[in-house]
Amino acid sequence: MHRITRVSVLRRHLVPLRKKGHRIALVPTMGALHEGHLRLVDLARKHADVVVMSLYVNPVQFGPKEDFKRYPRPWQEDCALAAGRGVDVMFRPSSLYAENDSVRVIERECSLGRCGAVRPGHFDGVTTVVAKLFLIVQPDVAVFGQKDGQQLDVIERMVRDLYFPVKMVRAPIVRDRDGLAMSSRNRYLTKEERELAVRFASILREECSIGGAEGAVVARIQKRLTGLAGIRLEYVEAVRGRIHVAVYVGTTRLIDNRLVRAGNA
Ligand code: AMP
Repeated sequence: MHRITRVSVLRRHLVPLRKKGHRIALVPTMGALHEGHLRLVDLARKHADVVVMSLYVNPVQFGPKEDFKRYPRPWQEDCALAAGRGVDVMFRPSSLYAENDSVRVIERECSLGRCGAVRPGHFDGVTTVVAKLFLIVQPDVAVFGQKDGQQLDVIERMVRDLYFPVKMVRAPIVRDRDGLAMSSRNRYLTKEERELAVRFASILREECSIGGAEGAVVARIQKRLTGLAGIRLEYVEAVRGRIHVAVYVGTTRLIDNRLVRAGNA
């Protein structure tokens, strides 16, 4: 695996590969890798000859009171995991923002509501950094997880509206055996908090599998999560047949989403 930190070096590395006709896939991440990230690599491999993973904790998508500083950065471990899974190039820039950086890419529809409502400016940071990565790597394919469902909607809209020549691939959510969606932030949880997080994931699973009208499922989940000590509900929203939820367990923010089983009610 090639480890590259500079934009110019990455660009130079990719030119001959592209000339040979190799298809390039990009898997953007913020690191602290887990099986969810590694499945994106497997999927990327199915669509391309060269898999580039980026590892960058993007400061612009964090709010001033969020966990940018404490976000885990186990970079050596990440490199070993990525190399073991067959990543060809690990791109780990120290910064993607010049000191007087002044350009943002802003999506104005999909980024409303859900995380967009409670994390102002978050998706401007996401679209800006993903646009930069697309322009740097110029991938044929980019793989993103359904775990961050709204993020996918926002990026797909950006790709469409800005005519990025990138095929977007959606990867299903990878869960631990106890049903909790894998997340780099799960590392923050104490044993007790983890149990609460699993309860949260079970409530979402149970209510989505009972199903019914979206509004009714939302109301049931809202009721159950609001009554759960130790969990602070941020939002429950239905979007195109999926229920999206964000909660705080202690100081850790977790998101998840599931398809609602269709019902007549
Ligand atoms: P992050 O490092 O959290 O920014 O995530 C990088 C990519 O991995 C995003 O496309 C996420 O949606 C995806 N991802 C994170 N966790 C999971 C998971 N449990 N299952 C599937 N994809 C995931």
